[in-house]
Amino acid sequence: MTAPMLSPTDETIARAAEVLRGGGLVAIPTETVYGLACDATNPEAVARLYTAKGRPRINPLIAHVTGLDMAQAEGRFNQAASTLAASGWPGPLTLVVPLAETHSVCELARAGLGSIALRQPAHPVAARVLAGFGGPLVAPSANPSGKISPTRAEHVLADMGARVDLILDGGPCEIGVESTILSCLEETPSVLRHGAFDAAAFVALEQDEARPLAPGGLSRHYAPNATLRLNVPEPISGDAYLAFGPTDGPKGRVSLNLSETGDLIEAAANLFDMLRQLDRSYARIAVAPIPMTGLGLAINDRLARAAKRD
Ligand code: AMP
Ligand code: MG
Repeated sequence: MTAPMLSPTDETIARAAEVLRGGGLVAIPTETVYGLACDATNPEAVARLYTAKGRPRINPLIAHVTGLDMAQAEGRFNQAASTLAASGWPGPLTLVVPLAETHSVCELARAGLGSIALRQPAHPVAARVLAGFGGPLVAPSANPSGKISPTRAEHVLADMGARVDLILDGGPCEIGVESTILSCLEETPSVLRHGAFDAAAFVALEQDEARPLAPGGLSRHYAPNATLRLNVPEPISGDAYLAFGPTDGPKGRVSLNLSETGDLIEAAANLFDMLRQLDRSYARIAVAPIPMTGLGLAINDRLARAAKRD
């Protein structure tokens, strides 16, 4: 049976909280991508979520919280983590901190780690669902593991409609790429995954491919069915071309443009939706070069993983 896709109202948000309390799976909009939420303290619900996504259970989940109070019951915040939470929350920033003794997030959600990833999302619907539920929710992207993340409720319906209990339709996601993940396990924070929170000041951690610290660490992720070639300045015939910035060549050869004005924020918001659109009609997609600055770091990271064949 396909899940109902509902507009967020007081009533549907209360219904979502009820479904979550019963151990169900609810797709919710966040400012980054759509998340598939369930009760982070309920191992049976979390097991259902891993199965629904086909996600390897060694890949721990992010616990979403209503704010620093709830976060500090789950994890221990050092000075750097507190400062980052103060500047980045609510927002597209996930902090990995040591587990607190008072934690309630279940072991399965943490993949057995002694640390926990925490985020306070900014999207008003996500915030209202969290407040209505009253506890931490894990909410990985609402797509089959390894595939393109959803930035619209229709993407969730198409990919996961039969595997979730309810979809809240909050319209297109404003940011469109996943949160920045910073590890605060040491005194100095380090980047585990680039995203919309500007983390250029932090050094990227070396990642172990066999047991990645962040999903972006898995070699193939965000993958379309089409083969993807990156940093292609000029399309060749037969390729779908995903352009970036002004294009003065023959318009017919540009299939879609991430941002005609070369705006990286607009490009990030369009990235997954445009990849999905091209993937439906083409076997080969060529992507224009995207600058490695600001959100370009996150866009290039997602593209590199989507292009990887193994
Ligand atoms: P997503 O799949 O976008 O929900 O991203 C969640 C990512 O956060 C996962 O890939 C995790 O690897 C990362 N993560 C969650 N918990 C931890 C943790 N305790 N330590 C390091 N990374 C974590
Ligand atoms: Mg994901």
